[in-house]
Amino acid sequence: MVLPIYIYGQPVLRKVAQDITPDHPGLKELLADMWETLAESEGIGLAAPQIGQDIRVVVIDLNPLAEDYPEYKDFKGTYINAHIVELDDSKTSTSEEGCLSLPAIHEKVTRPTRIRVQWVDENFQPHDEWVEGYLARCMQHEFDHLEGKMFIDRISPLRKQLIKSKLKALTQGRYRCGYKTKPARR
Ligand SMILES: [Zn+2]
Repeated sequence: MVLPIYIYGQPVLRKVAQDITPDHPGLKELLADMWETLAESEGIGLAAPQIGQDIRVVVIDLNPLAEDYPEYKDFKGTYINAHIVELDDSKTSTSEEGCLSLPAIHEKVTRPTRIRVQWVDENFQPHDEWVEGYLARCMQHEFDHLEGKMFIDRISPLRKQLIKSKLKALTQGRYRCGYKTKPARR
């Protein structure tokens, strides 16, 4: 089932999400719904708070980038109870980001290129890996959602000032986008 994407202004996007246990009610359906919602919205990543649930579940599909990054062909990952445990600050990169919860806003964000991440997959098998490149950026963006953060928190005060009216419009439900959404108010 395609779920509505919660839009900037929705309080759940500012909550710290909680770890879950393997017997979390409806987890299988939730994952299926998140994959369907991600495909429908043509995004590359979706975190559970974006569909209104404050739990640490993220799905990432880098297939849409395969033309530019052949290494990501057929790359799909499910990240449960994900935590960034180390950031390698020795190298950063800057790239434009967007977010399904912030329709029509795109800003350059600087992030470390290499991070160490711990998570369990859909079978609750534990993983502990250093990740780099575009996947590391995507993970940082998605895992920020689990901390109640969004990429606009990582742009300069000047840039933030410049998009202030756009952000206000989002909180008031004044925007257009091609997928199902749930604004704070309309
Ligand atoms: Zn996002």
